Amino acid sequence: MDNPERARILHGMEHKPDILIVGGGLNGPALALALAQTGHTVTIIDALAEKVRKNAAFDGRAYALALASQRLLQTIGVWDRVADHAQPMLEIKVTDGHAGTGPSPFFMHFDHAEIEEGPMGYMVEDRHLRRAFLDAMDADSNITQISGRTVIAQDHDATDVTLTLDDGSTLTGGLLVGCDGRRSGTAARAGIKRSGWDYGQTALVCAIEHDLPHHGVAHQFFMPPGPLAILPLTGNRSSIVWSERTDAAKRINALPEADYMQILRPRFGDFLGDIKLAGDRFTYPLNLTIANAFIGERMALVGDAAHGMHPIAGQGLNAGLRDVGALAEVLTLAGRRGEDIGSVLVLERYQEWRRFDTASLAMATDVFNKLFSNDNPLLRVGRDIGMGIVGSLPALRRGFVREAAGLTGDLPKLLQGRAI
Ligand SMILES: Cc1cc2nc3c(=O)[nH]c(=O)nc-3n(C[C@H](O)[C@H](O)[C@H](O)COP(=O)(O)OP(=O)(O)OC[C@H]3O[C@@H](n4cnc5c(N)ncnc54)[C@H](O)[C@@H]3O)c2cc1C
Repeated sequence: MDNPERARILHGMEHKPDILIVGGGLNGPALALALAQTGHTVTIIDALAEKVRKNAAFDGRAYALALASQRLLQTIGVWDRVADHAQPMLEIKVTDGHAGTGPSPFFMHFDHAEIEEGPMGYMVEDRHLRRAFLDAMDADSNITQISGRTVIAQDHDATDVTLTLDDGSTLTGGLLVGCDGRRSGTAARAGIKRSGWDYGQTALVCAIEHDLPHHGVAHQFFMPPGPLAILPLTGNRSSIVWSERTDAAKRINALPEADYMQILRPRFGDFLGDIKLAGDRFTYPLNLTIANAFIGERMALVGDAAHGMHPIAGQGLNAGLRDVGALAEVLTLAGRRGEDIGSVLVLERYQEWRRFDTASLAMATDVFNKLFSNDNPLLRVGRDIGMGIVGSLPALRRGFVREAAGLTGDLPKLLQGRAI
């Protein structure tokens, strides 16, 4: 339902939802669906109109979804809506490259054949994933959607949390979850500070059409200004995430298409034959931002609102979906035991489960980016030797493949493909 008036009428009467979610990007809808499945009523608010979020040209990203994330999407009923647009990721090749001189002979190669579970993951374009989430929420009677309204204030007492929207209306629920992205107002209004820094890098993002098939292989080239990822999409297309220093990125993005491609071509190489742009170009400034706490009074943070990281290893959304799985499981089990799902005791279980894990992942992506976005010859030799060692040790290689598939660590049930 995308009807603020109906939602307001419902909320003004006795139908107080169990959970209010601020942010209908990607993690918000995933959480709404996971919670609705276990019988919770959810109201989800997003500042953008539904038709803007459903517009195919809204966001040029494509996500490398780990196998565990795919399992969550399957379990909450979203996967069948995107499966036809998903490209299995069968191999990952990581190379220490240098624009113009081609990749170095040192590289790591990870093959899904080293694990029994299947592909390491799937590439799914934002436009398909976002639409699938919105359609799945429309079909769920436990979910009320309010689109095109911004949350401007929040308050809580011993039993409830109250949100004020930009039209002056208010909503009341038992728990507030902030899925409102890297600049989370939910966190700020709760007085939660953030740690992090700007990378001085911007990601240039676009889709490329190429002559030769990619065979489901994802490539990551490490260049001194930042990494270049070439990620397989359906058909003879790949998604490019090309990180450059911000001033250079701005200059490159402003160039006409032919000049843009002339800069991309030597970085890309010719292993996929001739390449051309397939769609619009996008830019995303890159920063690291971690909330100093993932919970507050009757409030929890999920996804980028809790931890925004460098896209170098394609882990941001995967980490968010782990939060979704963990929070849905903690709340559902607590509810079944008759506990108050908004109580600090319950919310602390979620924070304990996810905080260390995400902070270490965010720091690992940070170190990785600093180590590889660097032209120091000593560092280059060191990392090439390191890659050679990882590539030549089967047990280590297998460990990396399991990590890329998201199969390691304390996995919430939904990420194991099991209902809560
Ligand atoms: C270039 C790039 C490539 C990436 N590639 C990958 C990848 O391959 N794999 C991967 O796992 N991750 C990847 N990521 C990370 C991924 O994009 C993010 O982790 C993910 O989009 C975060 O989703 P979210 O729902 O938490 O936040 P967002 O998508 O930022 O959604 C937040 C929502 O909250 C709404 N909102 C904010 N404030 C308010 C308010 N006050 N009231 C109402 N609504 C509000 C906004 O309108 C928005 O819709 C990549 C990131 C970048 C930049």
